[in-house]
Amino acid sequence: MPHWLDTGIEYLKGVGPQRAEALKKELGIFTLGDLLSHYPFRHEDRSQTYTIASLRGDDVWVQLQGRIRPMGIAGAGQGRRFVAILSDGTAELELVWFKGINYIERFLKPGETYRVYGKINNFKGKISIAHPELDVVNTQNPSQALTLIPVYPLTEGLRRKKLENKFLVTAAQNAVNNPGYDIPENLPLRIIQKYKFIGRKEAIKELHFPQNLARLEEAKRRLKFEELFYLQLRHLMLKGFRNRTYKGLIFDSVGHYFNEFYNNHLPFELTGAQKRVLKEIRNDLKTGLQSNRLLQGDVGSGKTMVAMLTMLLAIDNGYQACMMAPTEILATQHYFSLHEWVEKLGLRIEILTGSTTKKKREALISDLQEGKIHILVGTHALIEQDVNYKQLGMVIIDEQHRFGVAQRAKLWKKGQVLPHILVMTATPIPRTLAMTVYGDLDVSVIDEMPVGRKPIITVHRQESMRPAIMEFLRTEIAKGRQVYYVFPLIEDSDKLDLNSLMSGFDMVNEYLSPPQFKYSIVHGKLKAKEKESAMNLFKNHQTDILIATTVIEVGVNVPNASVMVIENAERFGLAQLHQLRGRVGRGNEQSYCVLITKPGLSENGYKRISTMVRTNDGFEIAKVDLELRGPGELDGTKQSGVLELKLADIRHDESILIASRVEAQEWLAADELLANSESEPIRNELKKIPHRTVWSKIS
Ligand code: ADP
Ligand code: MG
Repeated sequence: MPHWLDTGIEYLKGVGPQRAEALKKELGIFTLGDLLSHYPFRHEDRSQTYTIASLRGDDVWVQLQGRIRPMGIAGAGQGRRFVAILSDGTAELELVWFKGINYIERFLKPGETYRVYGKINNFKGKISIAHPELDVVNTQNPSQALTLIPVYPLTEGLRRKKLENKFLVTAAQNAVNNPGYDIPENLPLRIIQKYKFIGRKEAIKELHFPQNLARLEEAKRRLKFEELFYLQLRHLMLKGFRNRTYKGLIFDSVGHYFNEFYNNHLPFELTGAQKRVLKEIRNDLKTGLQSNRLLQGDVGSGKTMVAMLTMLLAIDNGYQACMMAPTEILATQHYFSLHEWVEKLGLRIEILTGSTTKKKREALISDLQEGKIHILVGTHALIEQDVNYKQLGMVIIDEQHRFGVAQRAKLWKKGQVLPHILVMTATPIPRTLAMTVYGDLDVSVIDEMPVGRKPIITVHRQESMRPAIMEFLRTEIAKGRQVYYVFPLIEDSDKLDLNSLMSGFDMVNEYLSPPQFKYSIVHGKLKAKEKESAMNLFKNHQTDILIATTVIEVGVNVPNASVMVIENAERFGLAQLHQLRGRVGRGNEQSYCVLITKPGLSENGYKRISTMVRTNDGFEIAKVDLELRGPGELDGTKQSGVLELKLADIRHDESILIASRVEAQEWLAADELLANSESEPIRNELKKIPHRTVWSKIS
């Protein structure tokens, strides 16, 4: 028997076949269940009625009550409008209509008392409201009984058909007031009792039509928990499924190569955090389960060395390893830093990217298949169809959370037995985001910097101070230091990008002229080989200044470079600024980061720049970034499901998120296959088809 919720939307009172078509097409609402899961994104608070005399400010939504005196049409052309005066005994204001003039003229009843709702426009103390919502007081108007009126996401298509918010409000009201109204519970009783949640049936009703703000909060708390609980449950079930389905390679020996490198070639003492993380990784490799681990660490915390030692563990156990980077520059960097270490051990490391020649590629693939290559470094080219390994045991992914579950799944197909996977984030992400995006992974954190690092000194300067900045660069270069000088990529246009870089280059030249000062230039239009040679000149200190766009953002390692200058710094996001700054402070010298901006920053821009000046802590910066941008805007979160959260916001709902994770963990620990009768609500919920949502159309 189908549930009441599965009733077609056309059967709801006040909808009918035509409007039903519009709802299906525009909002993906096919059933009553779909309608009730189309949540309001806010409520209009009609619990308070203001007096006109008390109105202050501008752009605020208010409810007023008074008599209306139509005044007639004023203005002409664009400014043609219908004007009426609202008076409530305390003062008067103007109500204005630019559209639907004939209708409103006929509709308004002079002398009636109206309830008026709208956004006030305060022009030099003269207050007006354009296109207010009007309700005659004391008639049989059901929405007047409501003090909190839901506001739903709408589309242009619906508006064109005159199906506005009021239509959805009435439809939802008819649904929840229907004698058949019923919503099955989808949380186990034990959890409901523990958190004193209201039931689902009640919660959905209160979410649409709350009795008061406190009830609305209760409904939200419950529904947010439910949303996050199922997200976490899915992550953990995926993990559980993997563990039951795939065997993991067992690397139980720390063998020759690891020991040889660790005892004789380690260029520095590992930090405590690096050692701890290595232990966590090694423990994974002994369990017989496939390891899927996220390695978080701030820029410069030494993730590469952890990756190196992890790959040696694979090699010691007879397997190959690969390391994947997001860009060719970074892959090349990794290749060179690893090469230096790996060759001392007599192992073979190679690089494969999009610009590897066909001939070279064929040779590489064949050697790889024969097991002659121990470590392969590269870009996404590493996971193309024809790249087959003899025995791939360990995959390291060095990425800025661009590598979601789907991409990782592609790797799983590479071999019969799955390799272990270690994902490293290039910049830290807040714990809440990691839990949401990478909830199916185990997490390790490097929370300690190598000793002797001096914190980078960051300053904010206006463009007008350029001469002094250039003088500073001159003295640093005279001391033997090197400088990064970065220009923003403008509007994704390669041409403009190059132009601004070139004029920027000329500008810097005026202060620090060649041949006395030597330059490398790197930008997106260069061929891989050209980039590489420019980078190498800088790396070998044959040049003093690297002029670049953000292509140098991730991973570049030139310890002698101690100054990072960023032009138009206000155009960069926080994560990007932090990444860029992380290119310096890698040696023993005091390093500097100079953020140059135009005067007159936006509030958001100011917050970004001042955060950079205030702290070097990547985790702290990631938190501010998440605050400012919201989870949907962060790189790589789009395909991860964070955006599909309808109610919860991981910025503000951290405690609910953590509770939901803990409960999901405990639930699965007690009943992994959800076979107990207590798990029935969960089983039923998981059986449901995902909601048909058409986000792209929502305005
Ligand atoms: P990230 O975590 O950003 O990838 P890297 O692995 O590139 O950082 O390391 C940054 C720099 O710190 C490199 O020059 C690396 O050789 C050095 N480094 C890493 N670990 C240590 C350590 N324990 N002691 C001293 N220097 C280290
Ligand atoms: Mg790195």
